[in-house]
Order: sequence, then C-alpha cells, then structure tokens
Amino acid sequence: MPYQSRWPLAPPNVCLPTFIFDQSGGNLQSAQRKVFLDAKRPETHYFTFSSYREWSKRFAAGLSAAGLRPGDRVMLFSGNSIFTPIVVMGTIIAQGIYNSANPGFSVREAAFQIKDCAPKFILAAPNCLQRAQEAVQMAAMDLGAVLLFEDIGLDELHWPQQTPIQHWTKLLGSSQASKELNWKELDSPEKSNRTALLAYSSGTTGLPKGVEISHYQIVSNIIQLERTLCSDKTVTNRRNLCVLPFYHGLGLLYYCLMSPKLGLQIYLMERYDLLTMLRHIARFRITELLLVPPMLIAMAKHPTARSGECDISSVRKIIVGAAPLGREVTERFEEIWQGRVRVRQAWGMTEAPALCLAWDECETSQCTTTSVGELLPGVEAKLIRDDGAEETKQGQAGELWVRGPNIMKAYWRNEKATTETKTSDGWLKTGDIALIDKGKWYIVDRKKELIKVRGAQVAPAELEALLLEHPQIIDAAVIGVKNITGDEEPRAYVVARNKSMISEAQVEEFIQCRVSKQKRLCGGVVFLNSIPKTPAGKIVRRELRDKANREIRNG
Ligand code: AMP
Repeated sequence: MPYQSRWPLAPPNVCLPTFIFDQSGGNLQSAQRKVFLDAKRPETHYFTFSSYREWSKRFAAGLSAAGLRPGDRVMLFSGNSIFTPIVVMGTIIAQGIYNSANPGFSVREAAFQIKDCAPKFILAAPNCLQRAQEAVQMAAMDLGAVLLFEDIGLDELHWPQQTPIQHWTKLLGSSQASKELNWKELDSPEKSNRTALLAYSSGTTGLPKGVEISHYQIVSNIIQLERTLCSDKTVTNRRNLCVLPFYHGLGLLYYCLMSPKLGLQIYLMERYDLLTMLRHIARFRITELLLVPPMLIAMAKHPTARSGECDISSVRKIIVGAAPLGREVTERFEEIWQGRVRVRQAWGMTEAPALCLAWDECETSQCTTTSVGELLPGVEAKLIRDDGAEETKQGQAGELWVRGPNIMKAYWRNEKATTETKTSDGWLKTGDIALIDKGKWYIVDRKKELIKVRGAQVAPAELEALLLEHPQIIDAAVIGVKNITGDEEPRAYVVARNKSMISEAQVEEFIQCRVSKQKRLCGGVVFLNSIPKTPAGKIVRRELRDKANREIRNG
C-alpha cells in the first residue's frame, strides 16, 4: 500500500490566471500589497499585487497582438528581474507556454534548448543578447524574434523609443487592450490541463528534456505549499529575499507564482552573492529564506554572519532544498543562532514541482535536521527495491516513486523518456533513494545519473557527448564527486586515443569554454584504459563512484 499524505487535496479545475488573480489568496494578500521589490531600488522598482496583474495582462495583450497563438513558447534568457513574473504570467494569460534559459548558458547550450522548444519569442537580457542571437543561428531555426529584455522604469515616458534592435516593451499592449482580455473560458478540466510551463531537466538519465507542467499542476502545488510552508496563519508579515534563480523550477514556482498569490513580499536579487544577501537581510528585516545547501554553508561559515556584524535576527525560518544537506551544517547553523532560526529541508524535482516533501511550519515537535518532512497534501509515495518489489518496512530504503496532482504531465515531445519515467498510472520514478521512519522522510542516496552543483543540474550525458567530440578522446564517463563542503563536482573518466599526448588540463579547458560554469570539470579528469560498462554498453557508474571514493581517500 502506498504511503498517503495526511491531508487530502481536491484542486479546482481553473486556469492559473483565475486562481492567482480572481480567487482570494492567503491571509496576507491585498491588492495594494507590494509583492515584488527590486532589492537594489525598492523605493521605485516594485509591483503591487494589482500592478502585477495589470502589467501581466498588458504583456499578454501585446503578445497576442504580435501573433502568439495558444501553445506557442516564449523563452526568457535572463537573470532575475522584477519583470520576470510579468513575462511568466503574461505568457500564460496569452495561452502561451513559458520557458526560461539559464543566463549562464553558452551559445551551444542555448541553441540546444532553442532547437528543442522552438520559441516564437526570445527575450534576452543585455548580457545574454549576443549569445541568444548566435544560438538562434546555430539552431538554424526560423524563429519569430529575439528581443532585448532589460529593466525599465515603471513610467512609460522613460521607455526607450529608438533602439537598434527590438525592445521587449514593444510587446506591452495598451491598458485598453488588456481590459478586453478574459480568461473565464479557460476554466475547464480540459483547458486547465494545458501546458503552462516548460522547465528543462535531465531527469533520471540522458540529455535535458522539457518538463511540461500544466495550469492544474501549478494550482495544486500552490495549494500544497500554502497548507504546509505557510500554514501558520498567525504570521502577519512574510518578507522573503529571493536569491534563487527564476530559471529553475523551484525559484519559478515558489517566487513568481505562489508568493504573490499568498501575499508574500519578495525582495529580489538579480543573482546570489553572500555579502549582499546578508546586507539585504538586515536592511529589509527579512523573515524567511529559501536556499540551496551551499548558500547555508557559506552563511554558517562567514564571519560577518557569525559575528552579528550583519543583523540577521529577523529571520525565523530557512527552507533548504534542491540538493542534500549535511546534518553538521544545519546543527552548526542552529547552534550559532541559538535555535532562533529553524532550518528545514524540503525535497522536490523539476518533474515533481516545486516541492513534494516538506515540513509543516506549524510542526515543532520531533523536528530533525536530516529529514525532508512529510508528503505534501494529495501526494502518495512508495519505495521500490532493486528487485522491483515494494519496500514496506520502516527504515528500509528504496527508490522513491511519487504520485499526485502536481506531478508533471510529460516530457516535451519525448514519449520514450516520458514512459520510462512516469508509469501509465501516474507514478513518477524519481531516481532518488529514500526511506521513511516514524512518519518522516529521508533522502539517503541518488541512483540516477544527475549531478547537482550548487543546486543546479549537470547532466553527465551532456558532458560525455561533448568529450567525445574531442578528436583525442575515444570514450568518456562523467560522475559527481563530493568536495570538502559536501557539494558535488563533475569528474571525467576519459579514454584517450592510442599514443595521444592530451593532458588533464587540456580536457578541462576543452569543456570549460563550451559550457556554463556549473558544468566545468572541477572534480578533475582521470585517464583510464577503458570505461566499465555492462554487456549492453551502459556505463557502470557505481564502479566509477567507488573508484572516485578510493581516489579521494588516498588523496
Ligand atoms: P531539480 O530537478 O533540479 O530540482 O533536481 C531534483 C533533484 O535534486 C532530486 O531528484 C534530488 O536528487 C535532488 N534534491 C532535491 N532536494 C533534495 C534534498 N532535500 N535532499 C537531497 N537531494 C535533493
């Protein structure tokens, strides 16, 4: 028998705009509440709940007028901006599908995603624009347009009029056009099942794939998160500092979609930087944070945070997810702040967005730092042993399978990967090894190929394919190895052509100039005579991981 959440869930069959804008939200929501504030200039650059709605509608009206049809994709290639939520909701209101690209992508990486999802419009930040244009050429796509996406004043008079290339403000419709928009006809089971987001993930194996997430799945997850992470209705103010990237499913769902619905106030940083983060926490009296483990580790270690030079006493809760977190860090952290800050782990994946396992914030008893909490409302789970049987004993580990109203629809135009990952009766095979003990869940290992570097995905298959493009390399395998802080780093095992003189440094350099930062081979390069493989030709990663552990132990 699968494990069931203690809370049932019956999400409404409405489209996302109805749910977010037309139905009453959490106890903090009000039309004039500031929901997104630019942490650099919060006095002038912010959206209230009502202006967020208005601007999203204007962007939707402009997109439709520019020819966006239902199901067309809009890609945003940029760091965080207070205008990102406008692009996300505007695209969804116009019945398009929102997709984001990591602003650190190389041309090659951007081209891969552009080719796969074929966006009609690409909005690129100034520092991404050239790569976007080159990527479009590399993908050899007949695309709609690449537009410059940059922050603008909220006053139309100051928008750029004459720009050498198309500016994204050209896609902002008039207030009148936005008034005529109506999404009521999308409130049906069939239409709320349409895809709203396409987020990229390599899943349990292979190259990155577009994860299709529908209106219904997002609505479900927002309700799930509200009932657990924001269950304490006595809290009268929630101020968050967003340091997670919006291009990742967790940041996108939590900050762009859930937070405004519930009335959480979000101070936005374009990108993470520890010292700036600490200063912002003190200045805005931030009450809650959502972090990835390396950020918490950095905070626990940094003298400015430890010495109290930056006053972070306003923070009462920190949720950590996206990668494993060691017990020592959490305990050290809680010790430094003498129990004033609660650190809680949560688990989710792009295919099971944004979170499926988390702590109910009202629960104070039996909180252990290593557990990821319990199943969110409406979620079921089971553990599958290596022999395929269901593991039913408490404390015994197996592969975690989850099912629920928030689980992805499918991989974009990839039926094979979909059927390999999601069973016909809706179970998602997560590739994570978990166990349950006294009603609480623990993630204890990962059996899938995925490597997580500072919370970001690195797909070994992508690096292996790239290594094989080198004329001196005849075979390669990439795995993740832990560094001293407990974070993972990609390490390549490489078979060089006979008599080749290629060095480790040359292999590292070959990769470095073709990929974004987190994919660099910081875990090193090791030459082998052959890569261990099964008779069917599959890399035996377990053997390489054992080898890496021995290499690390022996220095
Ligand atoms: P992503 O799709 O990028 O969100 O990555 C999802 C994967 O990150 C999961 O399948 C896990 O392998 C890992 N992950 C997420 N949260 C945790 C956690 N709390 N503990 C351990 N691993 C995690």
